[in-house]
Amino acid sequence: MSHTCIHWFRKGLRLHDNPALIAGLKDCKELYPVFVLDPYLYNKAFGLNRWRFLIGSLRDLDCSLKKLNSRLFIVRGEPKDVFPTLFKKWKVSKLTYEYDTEPYSLSRDQTVTELAKEHGVEVIYKVSHTLFDINRIIEANNGKPLLTYKRMQAIVSDLGSPKKPIPAPTVNDIKYTSTPSSKDHEEKFGVPTLDELGHDIASISEELFPGGEVEALKRLDEHMKRTQWVCNFEKPQTSPNSLMPSTTVLSPYVTFGCLSARTFWWRLAEVYQGKKHSSPPVSLHGQLLWREFFYTASLGIPNFNKMKDNPVCTQVDWDNNPEFLAAWREARTGFPFIDAIMTQLRTEGWIHHLARHAVACFLTRGDLWISWEEGQKVFEELLLDGDWALNAGNWQWLSASTFFHQFFRVYSPVAFGKKTDKNGDYIKKYLPLLKKFPPQHIYEPWKAPRSVQQAAGCIIGKDYPKPLVEHEVVRKKNIQRMTLAYAKRSADKSESPSKKQGVKRKAPSVVDMLNKKAKQK
Ligand code: FAD
Repeated sequence: MSHTCIHWFRKGLRLHDNPALIAGLKDCKELYPVFVLDPYLYNKAFGLNRWRFLIGSLRDLDCSLKKLNSRLFIVRGEPKDVFPTLFKKWKVSKLTYEYDTEPYSLSRDQTVTELAKEHGVEVIYKVSHTLFDINRIIEANNGKPLLTYKRMQAIVSDLGSPKKPIPAPTVNDIKYTSTPSSKDHEEKFGVPTLDELGHDIASISEELFPGGEVEALKRLDEHMKRTQWVCNFEKPQTSPNSLMPSTTVLSPYVTFGCLSARTFWWRLAEVYQGKKHSSPPVSLHGQLLWREFFYTASLGIPNFNKMKDNPVCTQVDWDNNPEFLAAWREARTGFPFIDAIMTQLRTEGWIHHLARHAVACFLTRGDLWISWEEGQKVFEELLLDGDWALNAGNWQWLSASTFFHQFFRVYSPVAFGKKTDKNGDYIKKYLPLLKKFPPQHIYEPWKAPRSVQQAAGCIIGKDYPKPLVEHEVVRKKNIQRMTLAYAKRSADKSESPSKKQGVKRKAPSVVDMLNKKAKQK
């Protein structure tokens, strides 16, 4: 029987390795590829650089669909309002989408699935955002969330390799399918510009990482040609402050789904084939497994993006300090290494993993004693690769709240950067007002004699701020506060993560319910 299908693009902004799209194309007479500009997800908290990446990715997707004689339909509004209208208007019989494990997405998808049912629309969803169906990883761990990478590695090795990615559809694959688009398609359903969306683009910086599947696959190809680099890749050996990124910067593409994680995985496997290569956790395969690890944790642990009611998160008496938070966010801490990183984040939308370590530790347990949830919000707005699960998981790690417990190991905002950039070239690039400071003073310009500050044309306390805190003093105080939080955690058995982390999920989750429904079909 031929049918009319909406393929709902959300993440997964690609044609390659898109099993839900392929399922929709089966016996399909009419295809409507749809993207919903959902105000819950795309609002003021979604930073300008992210908007630019999203719009670029949608434009690229529309272009690729045009080559298949189809088009992308951008619709605005909440999915629960948008879909019933579209189901009726286009006489839809099938809805396909990629499975998404974020709490908002799970409840959204459940609502839309129920609405589809009421309209007699069949719903098919497929797993393709992660390497594995992460529900299977949790099931393989007796329904318990995983709290260590080692445990996940053990389970994943039992599951075997991730599925091979499937190719993008070709014109031949959809020769019996059409997309009814009208002459005023652009006006009604076209991809909006940033300007049309009301963004002030006057101050936007150069676009270093343009969005889209074509760009993603091109970048992947370029990296995979560097056989030695790929085989020798060890994350701790890469640099947080090199002038050119020392890792792949494929994360924005993976986050928006312009690049399939499974495609990335199998391309790496081809490069590794028959050669000596690094291994997880430090290899590139290992990086993709970190992603899988945090995704699994985010699905298995309630309130994963919060401290309160998150059963595995250490409860810490973080300070409420809006002034310190604003200084951190706006690159005014007075520590050039930290401020340079925060400047790179704001202007370019990507910073190296170890740079994220430095600023996250600084904000939380290292120096400012501000909750990781505040840092998480800033990253979510500014990072091109902002990802609900990975952001929450890594912030918990860095603040030594969950997963990582060696809170006495604190990054120095001065010494850490020096290890890989003695001259301070990275600081000079992102904080040009400090560029005339000699290398011995650039990480601690407040210690430079007045004459040196004058010669550098930058007086500390006037042209550039004095440090917010005395690192060596607050570091010691914060370790004591952390020691108390850990002592309380152990004493309070009912709050103890070690007690609760092993508890099986009791109430069925939305995932369980969706899975059950799918099985019943
Ligand atoms: P590569 O080293 O080239 O790694 C390849 C891929 O593996 C990445 O593209 C990414 O998909 C995955 N990956 C690598 N490291 C990690 C990691 N630690 N955790 C999970 N996946 C990983 N990453 C995000 O994608 N989104 C976020 O919102 C995010 N927030 C973070 C917040 C903090 C506080 C920290 C410390 C890390 C965060 N990370 C986040 C993880 C990591 O920093 C980035 O994935 C990585 O730096 C991206 O650069 P890359 O593509 O060059 O990575």
